[in-house]
Amino acid sequence: NLTDKLERSLKLLKGEGKITEINVAETLKDIRKSLLDADVNYKIAKSFTNTVKEKALGQNVLGSIKPGELMVKIVHDELSNLMGSNASELNLSNKLSIILISGLQGSGKTTFCSKLAKMLKDKKNKNPLLVADDIYRPAAIDQLKILGKQIDVTVYSELNNKSSIQIAQSAIKQAKQDKNDVVIIDTAGRLAVDQRMMEEIASIKKAINPDEILFVVDSMTGQDAVNTAKEFNNRLDFSGIVLTKLDGDTRGGAALSIRAVVNKPIKFVSRGEKMESIDIFHPKRMADRILGMGDIVSLVEKAQEQYNEGLARRLKKRIAKNQFDFDDFLIQIQQIKKMGNLRDLISMLPGMGKMVKEIDVDDNAFKKIEEIIYSMTPTERANPSILNSSRKSRIAKGSGKKISEVNQLLKQFEQIRKMMKTMTIQKSLNKTFRRK
Ligand code: GDP
Ligand code: MG
Repeated sequence: NLTDKLERSLKLLKGEGKITEINVAETLKDIRKSLLDADVNYKIAKSFTNTVKEKALGQNVLGSIKPGELMVKIVHDELSNLMGSNASELNLSNKLSIILISGLQGSGKTTFCSKLAKMLKDKKNKNPLLVADDIYRPAAIDQLKILGKQIDVTVYSELNNKSSIQIAQSAIKQAKQDKNDVVIIDTAGRLAVDQRMMEEIASIKKAINPDEILFVVDSMTGQDAVNTAKEFNNRLDFSGIVLTKLDGDTRGGAALSIRAVVNKPIKFVSRGEKMESIDIFHPKRMADRILGMGDIVSLVEKAQEQYNEGLARRLKKRIAKNQFDFDDFLIQIQQIKKMGNLRDLISMLPGMGKMVKEIDVDDNAFKKIEEIIYSMTPTERANPSILNSSRKSRIAKGSGKKISEVNQLLKQFEQIRKMMKTMTIQKSLNKTFRRK
């Protein structure tokens, strides 16, 4: 997948101090290939990599982050930009806002209509009316009625020979009487784009003049989704896109292409059969998904903001000389704390998101450690080896801890020290054997 490829090619950049034309070429090629694999349109992938290249060239790399990581961030930012940098909200400013739902059969329109109704009801305090305007299949009306019951929203339907236009119009009339503030109109789809369907929904649009026309698309349909979106947009000039079925393992590259081709915002994503599983679309999160990298990017951002390069260099030297002491340890803890909540930090690491729920990460984990270290004299902090049992019991008393807790910290400290030492050796080995 994209992550693996990206990681492999970014390895080539590791250890380089600056991003240059030469060391970036291979990476860009891989990014382009990966985007194509994630269903991103060819032209878009090409112009995308060009932009990334321009942004990346000549960037200086801060001491605390690797060029590869910086590159990931540039790619990520560009991805978010391409999908519209901010979440785009529904226009619900009218006394009665009318939302028309369009899309192919099976794309998830009916399901989305109900999810949207529930979201507006629960989160925006709205009083929506759902309209079953898919009149060709009685089962479609029943489906919406069942969902409506589930979320406790009224469903308007008529079983007679009226056209879908007439039904939409009378539904709106009733909504006004009943003091609804939103009308959501579910329409009929076909298995593929056909002229009759297009004409029908275009004439509904003309008759009721909706505030929003949302185009619903199944994100698993890949490149086809782009063509369908284009045809619907040409005909309807819709106001936003809804991506459904993002709960599968689709990477969502279609989102990127659709957005770029029709130049309309993606407003919602839907990811399951439960009525709650709908989200406002966040470009940044989608970029994460396409890159599939956990939130490595925020981690880099935080590091960029907070990390003090001088301290890092000093620390490295001291670790290498086996001089790492409790003062350094304190500095490290403070750095980590500055970067934010420990739980958040861990959950940002790729693959750790799920685990963090299971491990109990205590935000106060460091407090105990700090208190013990603060009870040491400067000489003790700089020379941990002089800590005999009388010193330990003084420290325990001073910090209000048990001797066993002090011993535990000393043990942990020794382990960390050893681990750091091996990590430094590993790093210099990597440097020596960089590139085959
Ligand atoms: P419509 O023909 O466009 O109205 O599509 P439906 O709303 O009837 O959905 C078609 C099928 O896809 C149904 O079986 C839905 O349960 C399912 N579906 C809709 N949205 C989602 C989604 O976000 N995730 C998953 N996994 N299934 C969905
Ligand atoms: Mg339907």
